[in-house]
Amino acid sequence: LSFTTIEEKNIKLAYYDYESVLRFELSNHLQKALERKELFLCYQPLVCLRTGEMISSEALLRWEHPKLGPISPARFIPVAEEMGFIQEIGAWVLNSACKQTKAWQLKGMHQLGVCVNVSAKQFLNPSFLDEVKLALKVSGLEAQYLTLELTESTMFQNLDESIDIMKALRNTGINVSIDDFGTGYSSLSYLKYLPINSLKIDQAFVNSLQATPIDTAIVKAIITMGEVLSVDIVAEGVETKVQADLLRELNCQYAQGYYIKKPLIADEFEVFAQQLIMS
Ligand code: C2E
Ligand code: CA
Ligand code: CA
Ligand code: CA
Repeated sequence: LSFTTIEEKNIKLAYYDYESVLRFELSNHLQKALERKELFLCYQPLVCLRTGEMISSEALLRWEHPKLGPISPARFIPVAEEMGFIQEIGAWVLNSACKQTKAWQLKGMHQLGVCVNVSAKQFLNPSFLDEVKLALKVSGLEAQYLTLELTESTMFQNLDESIDIMKALRNTGINVSIDDFGTGYSSLSYLKYLPINSLKIDQAFVNSLQATPIDTAIVKAIITMGEVLSVDIVAEGVETKVQADLLRELNCQYAQGYYIKKPLIADEFEVFAQQLIMS
């Protein structure tokens, strides 16, 4: 064995160990993780680029493991999906986000909405629609304030069925958004078949806005298409003033990103929101 092979082997082993620890932790301690509040939500503002007004937040799941530290949702959600735990986690996220948003509305942020990420397994589960309706009913949040974010890969697992579920969601007044737009199987042409309210331009395009004219052209095309189809456009991952200014110039309606605010724990989000209302 050459040195690099051993090194590679160790890396693979370390990766494997990490995965098995995650799997073990998830399968044995998920219930406890929820009870112990190791799982919690952060909220990141979505603002109108023209008025600066905050229209909504995106709920982002966090797992602060006592021994392993913070684990990214990008790591543990796929594991949860694979192990069949996403139902439970997803339902908890939906219920918490709806309850929190209703509480904020009652505190004076009357028009505040919330965007919730939905994973493929959760979305394609036959009880999903009932689950969402129940979360709204229990929290008292009106459907118009809830947006469900789906990725293209989720929809393309079963496009016809996905469109049916999306239509059923829209019929109850819930908003549907495409997340990470531009990274999947996107072709602008299929957009007209999708019953969506909004789409989020993936951060990759937003990130290279200043740098490459091609990405600027792509973003421009997406925004123009959005105007024609009456689909709201959200730019995510906006990190600089230059990007925000350029997006505003291109008539992009909404933005989200570190330039506006990082995801905040509920208490911090509330302080930020109150400051916005006061200013
Ligand atoms: P996403 O839905 O695309 O969420 C946006 C991600 O970009 C978040 O990462 C957010 O913290 C990060 N972000 C926000 N603004 C900026 C910025 O200006 N620059 C950069 N570089 N990043 C920014 P996070 O919170 O780590 O979440 C990662 C992914 O995990 C999410 O990507 C989403 O796919 C998934 N996820 C998070 N929460 C949930 C959940 O409750 N349910 C499901 N199914 N998936 C979730
Ligand atoms: Ca999202
Ligand atoms: Ca995204
Ligand atoms: Ca993403």
